[in-house]
Amino acid sequence: MKLTHFINGEQVSADTPFDSLNPSNTDDVVASYPAGGPAEVEAAVAAARGAFPAWSAASPELRSDLLDRVGATLMARGAELGELLAREEGKTRAEATGEVMRAARIFKYFAGEALRRHGQTLESTRPGLDASTWREAVGVYGLITPWNFPIAIPAWKTAPALAFGNTVVLKPANPTPAIAHALATIIHECGAALNVPKGIFNMVLGQGGVGSALVDHPDVAGISFTGSQAVGAKVGIAAMARQARVQMEMGGKNPLVVLADADLDRAVQIALDGGFFQTGQRCTASSRVIVEDAIHDRFVAALAERAKALKVGPALDPATQVGPAASDSQFEQNLRYVGIATGEGGRLVTGGERLSLATPGYFMSPAVIADTNPDMRINNEEVFGPVVSTIRARNYKEALEIANRGNFGLSAGIVTTSLKHARDFRRNVRAGMVMVNLPTAGVDYHVPFGGTRGSSYGAREQGFAAVEFYTQIKTVYVGD
Ligand code: NAD
Repeated sequence: MKLTHFINGEQVSADTPFDSLNPSNTDDVVASYPAGGPAEVEAAVAAARGAFPAWSAASPELRSDLLDRVGATLMARGAELGELLAREEGKTRAEATGEVMRAARIFKYFAGEALRRHGQTLESTRPGLDASTWREAVGVYGLITPWNFPIAIPAWKTAPALAFGNTVVLKPANPTPAIAHALATIIHECGAALNVPKGIFNMVLGQGGVGSALVDHPDVAGISFTGSQAVGAKVGIAAMARQARVQMEMGGKNPLVVLADADLDRAVQIALDGGFFQTGQRCTASSRVIVEDAIHDRFVAALAERAKALKVGPALDPATQVGPAASDSQFEQNLRYVGIATGEGGRLVTGGERLSLATPGYFMSPAVIADTNPDMRINNEEVFGPVVSTIRARNYKEALEIANRGNFGLSAGIVTTSLKHARDFRRNVRAGMVMVNLPTAGVDYHVPFGGTRGSSYGAREQGFAAVEFYTQIKTVYVGD
């Protein structure tokens, strides 16, 4: 399959020098894609800018109808697109189909939001004056997305941007262009059927220079970025230097605290889900498990036993529970961090080995590394793979103190039967999302999402929070 850019309502063909490989079988080329650069970004931004006056003035009903149609199409094609996503990214078929359905729900949710009016009428304290606020579309948004949720994250940025009357240029992640292309095709087909202005949604593919050209472009009013902290820092500085709006969702090193009063089986299941499902490739993965002394040894032994029993295999094999790493570089990073952790004194209880299966893929056995301390790199740097470290804590107070270390602050969880500790944790843990008796990962599509400290910057994503980033307030006074 040869992929194209989408610019001004057209699929723009070009040479396709880059391949997207199936991480479960690297002999399988999923698609090839073009080498877009500043020229394509220029054309895409010009198209989005040209479409903005008509789209921001279009009726809320038309915007709603477009998003509803995209959502319905995604839903109808969930199984087929789930298979493509699993083949390209490596998550299991169930996880991939679930993600497509979530993208569908996001579009449907924002079809409703497009109809909601957010302005307010206020009484002025001065006689003879009326005051009100209006929420307006902002302009062209540059959307830069990662590979680990290659359809849900483009959806949760594109849907609100379009719902509130903005136009879009999407730069999807390099390892997963085919699923992004499928989404772009659906948006285009639905748009053509409803006769929406050309150029409201554009997408540029390519390695190197596409994202930064978008961030630097003076006609791009806002940047929504999800990706690593290192890239986020560059994006934030560049966007702010030209006073563009910017929102960044970055990594995590999410703590899961397990207290001695927890049910052991339940705590192990929560840690297993949070740490290893989707191959640990979630920004909200429970990658640091902080275990109270009295339950520590039993917990680590049980977690290791369950992790060892997880079936690692190709994404589309129905027996697979943990798929491959999504890319060569991610795979090498996972293996490297196992070495870093053991080099620092961590004890590898299970996993961390490169697996040779029937197909050449990026397979590693899920790793549990015990006896780590909070200052080790393994507890401060995001691995983004099936690697869970455990830390021993004397009591709840020390567990909370350890949970609050480091410079991330995305999600944090606690497993306990103590309401007192759960409530204290909710109040005092430094994270944007708190989970009680749940893994740190796993969020709804309509609930605001985001972190604190080094994990996130700017307005929250998803649900009703999205109106903050994708609209601007105008305050109006009317006199006699
Ligand atoms: P990445 O930072 O390498 O890339 C993200 C996107 O930025 C890609 O589309 C990439 O092409 C683009 N990019 C790269 N350099 C750029 C530059 N200089 N200017 C502009 N854009 C540039 O991240 P990734 O490897 O694709 O994704 C994994 C990361 O994403 C992890 O750190 C993970 O925690 C994070 N993530 C965060 C969330 C969240 O909501 N907090 C969700 C999912 C993933």
